[in-house]
Amino acid sequence: MLLMEHLIKVYNNISRKKETFVPINSPFVGMYVCGPTVYNDVHLGNVRTFVSFDVIYRYLQYYGYKVRYVRNITDVGHLTEDENAEDKMLKQAKLMQVEPMEVAQLYTNNFHEVLYLFNCLPPNIEPIATGHILEQIEMTQAILAAGFAYEIDGSVYFDVEKFNKKVGYGKLSGRKIEDLIANTRDLDGQENKRNNLDFALWKKANPEHLMRWKSPWGEGFPGWHLECSVMSTKYLGANFDIHGGGMDLKFPHHECEIAQNQAATHYEGARYWLHTNMLTVNGQKMSKSLGNGFLPAELITGDHPVLERGYAPMVIRFFMLQTHYSSTLDFSNEALDAAEKAYFRLMNAWENLNKLSLTPNANLQDAAEMEEVNRLCEACHQSMNDDFNTAMTIANLFELSRKINAYNDGKLALESLDEPTFARLQATYNDFIQVVLGLKNEQKEQGGKLTDGLMDIILDIRKAARENKDWTTSDLIRDRLNTLNVVVKDAKEATTWSVN
Ligand code: AMP
Ligand code: ZN
Repeated sequence: MLLMEHLIKVYNNISRKKETFVPINSPFVGMYVCGPTVYNDVHLGNVRTFVSFDVIYRYLQYYGYKVRYVRNITDVGHLTEDENAEDKMLKQAKLMQVEPMEVAQLYTNNFHEVLYLFNCLPPNIEPIATGHILEQIEMTQAILAAGFAYEIDGSVYFDVEKFNKKVGYGKLSGRKIEDLIANTRDLDGQENKRNNLDFALWKKANPEHLMRWKSPWGEGFPGWHLECSVMSTKYLGANFDIHGGGMDLKFPHHECEIAQNQAATHYEGARYWLHTNMLTVNGQKMSKSLGNGFLPAELITGDHPVLERGYAPMVIRFFMLQTHYSSTLDFSNEALDAAEKAYFRLMNAWENLNKLSLTPNANLQDAAEMEEVNRLCEACHQSMNDDFNTAMTIANLFELSRKINAYNDGKLALESLDEPTFARLQATYNDFIQVVLGLKNEQKEQGGKLTDGLMDIILDIRKAARENKDWTTSDLIRDRLNTLNVVVKDAKEATTWSVN
């Protein structure tokens, strides 16, 4: 598609407004998305966030932008707000009796496999936190030099109150520092921080801590928020276009990232901060620590207490895209059943469309019908331009599929369209399903299931023929199947088939 500037609007969480998307250096777009913490399997909630950004990445490219998509792997650092809680990577490594890097590699591989299953495109750069320790030390030094951090006993902390007075803290989350101070708990062992609100840029490693690096402050490891400031600015510059992640990362993670960026570079990092909303199960956030997350294998087989049966990955992807990324999405069997039906309707129309061929006939062309098809095609673009509204785009595609099915059934004359309108219909439908929404036709790929179903039907027809002593039909079916190497065996109990 040709790049037309200033048509895309995005909801920017930092201004709390829908804004026109204007890249800093068009046609280039820099997008950073917080990746997974690789200490156990990704669950479907994580997948929702990555599928949402996958569609945003896809659409920006489709629109004509040259996107550099950076998505990190978090393999070190404190992963909770409680900086004294045990590092989850280390906990898992001890449990599995392996090296922390083995844990990280195992779950990074798993993450890639899962996203591949859900047809997510890989990012352009996938930096790893432990691969950027030097840069994290450098940024800590820059923040110290700017006067917004202090060192105590081998650890370095960001001075939130001082930063708030001089620059301002809390812009993204809208939280007031006085309220935050009133609401923070005293955590054991944090007495060396000047203020409970202060967060670690660098932590001194205890003797038993396996993941440790030399630094100007002694052996230690970086704080949770630092890696994203470092890796986003390293690969996209101090001032880049889009920063994304789940809503749960808005505070404290992204708020702290902004503070670090401003302290070190004077820029906030990204101009547009996009947050995906949570996938919930019976109203509760799906999360690793709550243990209510589905693994992809459980989802496909249906082998999970909450699931009645399994669903194909594309059905799940479609289910996710039926809701706008900024709304919560509740996972239930009923919702998935409905999504599955809708998905197959869309896929059937897609197959029908690609079977249609138009012989233009000027006498049959109908201006109103052409206008309607063109309007619906345009609406697909408009809905994606409106903060990547996949829900509306799918609704528009359904309107188009009703038309396609009517042309296919002969209820509407395909010849009412001229060649350019028909070409536009085909291009729009194909592009939006495949390129923008990233959907594949499961029906085709699930050849096994479909073949089984079709063979049941064929053999039932043959059985009926045999019961009616219609040997011609029954033999014809058997011989025709034979030509496809399908061998039919009649036994007393049942007729079976196999492929030679
Ligand atoms: P984590 O591995 O926990 O750091 O999460 C990776 C990404 O998934 C982050 O952007 C989170 O905000 C996001 N995420 C976690 N839980 C959910 C959920 N239930 N629904 C949607 N996104 C989630
Ligand atoms: Zn991050």
